Amino acid sequence: MYLVLLGPPGAGKGTQAERLEKELGLPHVASGDLFREHLSKGTALGSLAKTYMDRGDLVPDDVTIAMIRERLQRPDCAQGAILDGFPRTQAQARGLDDMLADMGRALDGVLYLAVPDEELVQRLSGRWICRQCQTPYHTLFSPPAQAGVCDACGGELYQRDDDRPETVRARLRVYHQQTAPLIDYYRRAGLLVEVDGSGDIESVAAALLKVACTLAEKSDTPCR
Ligand code: ADP
Ligand code: ADP
Ligand code: ZN
Repeated sequence: MYLVLLGPPGAGKGTQAERLEKELGLPHVASGDLFREHLSKGTALGSLAKTYMDRGDLVPDDVTIAMIRERLQRPDCAQGAILDGFPRTQAQARGLDDMLADMGRALDGVLYLAVPDEELVQRLSGRWICRQCQTPYHTLFSPPAQAGVCDACGGELYQRDDDRPETVRARLRVYHQQTAPLIDYYRRAGLLVEVDGSGDIESVAAALLKVACTLAEKSDTPCR
């Protein structure tokens, strides 16, 4: 089962994708995490991506699509994947349709996490990420047991440069201009399920799991 988590920056896509990964046994594929992995390894793609990420702009479609195509072709994605942060443009959405078609697969559903902008700013300003496993925390809404240390792996927590208020404003503008049109694109394709993402982490997780399990039944993936 191939699912997309669609939503603005800070909506909770990463937080919820990690839970769905465990519940559904499908890999979490996050384009932002892949770019940051390239950056920390010092690859050419990493340094290219950084110039866009620092401004809150989108990395060009061709390199983004190629990176995801390579990721989805690895064996762990043969039974499905939970895509987080991709696609973000119409060209990427068409690219995804093409790569799944080439694999003899198709998208099963798009879960749209709706959260108002004011709340996103608050979520992103308190976000801390694990350097090793990328798990997101929040100083108020999801604090780690020990400040600065990841509960899951003991890694060091840090704040992303692009979570500064100026960059967050740019990212929200880019989201509304380039990514929000995908809501209609997928609604017209009959794939969109909207989930209210403004509640607490547990209630959003319960709502998403319910939707994901309904989709899983349709695509013969058992829900754990
Ligand atoms: P968030 O989780 O806050 O939505 P991400 O980690 O998904 O942020 O993305 C961080 C940055 O990485 C984006 O602002 C953008 O520069 C780049 N990026 C991530 N995914 C994509 C994508 N699908 N297309 C283009 N750029 C992307
Ligand atoms: P995204 O991947 O969509 O950018 P994240 O999952 O990284 O979003 O969440 C952004 C921030 O908000 C993180 O600090 C996370 O701990 C926090 N968060 C996620 N979901 C919720 C929620 N339902 N209520 C409050 N805070 C949340
Ligand atoms: Zn960790």
